[in-house]
Amino acid sequence: MSNAENFTDLGLDPRLSNILAHQGITEPTEIQALAVPTAITGHDLIASSKTGSGKTLAYLLPTMQRLMRQKALSKKDPRALILAPTRELAKQVYAQLRSLVSGTQFKVTLVLGGENFNDQAKALAKDPHVVVATPGRLVNHLDERSLFLDGLELLILDEADRMLDLGFAEQLNRINKVASHRLRQTLMFSATLEHAEVNSMAKTLLKAPKRIAIGAAN
Ligand code: ADP
Ligand code: MG
Repeated sequence: MSNAENFTDLGLDPRLSNILAHQGITEPTEIQALAVPTAITGHDLIASSKTGSGKTLAYLLPTMQRLMRQKALSKKDPRALILAPTRELAKQVYAQLRSLVSGTQFKVTLVLGGENFNDQAKALAKDPHVVVATPGRLVNHLDERSLFLDGLELLILDEADRMLDLGFAEQLNRINKVASHRLRQTLMFSATLEHAEVNSMAKTLLKAPKRIAIGAAN
């Protein structure tokens, strides 16, 4: 159990905790109570907890807080990229992100495989602050130069275990290389950390990460 009774105790901006309160979300889950304070201090992070435990907000809240409170490191958008393994998951993440940005000046875009490429390129040309994407289509946009990631401050891998099981290692390595800002923060979430490929990808992507494993054997 966490000791934090509310999101403001975790260091979250009251504007964000107010938005959550309007959605009936007032008490952080265990993964949120541990991951949010770690992520908002700028550390890299690898974290696991079971499905349904609230991992999405565990990274969306620190992402929004960074946009709201920290000056951009460069003039190049996007500042944050969130990768998810499937269209369905990316859509769910995007919906939750939209609920947090509504009423702010921040622009967000969804980039999915199987949908019109040129429409996505047009949306990307408007310099969104946050992009939510599936890895294959994201790499297509890098190839076509409709997206650049050299100003990226925050890279998030959701369901990293599933992304690797689906064979996206090559795409993740490519994204890691082009998203080369030296001050980049990287957050990796997985249902389990007992996964060889997740651990080897973590070594490539993360710098001195904090490790949070909830409900693991050790
Ligand atoms: P996971 O990614 O760990 O499987 P999700 O982020 O999809 O979990 O969250 C599962 C559900 O729990 C979602 O419907 C979400 O809105 C809800 N939820 C997340 N955090 C909280 C919270 N602190 N209090 C109440 N409900 C929450
Ligand atoms: Mg999830």
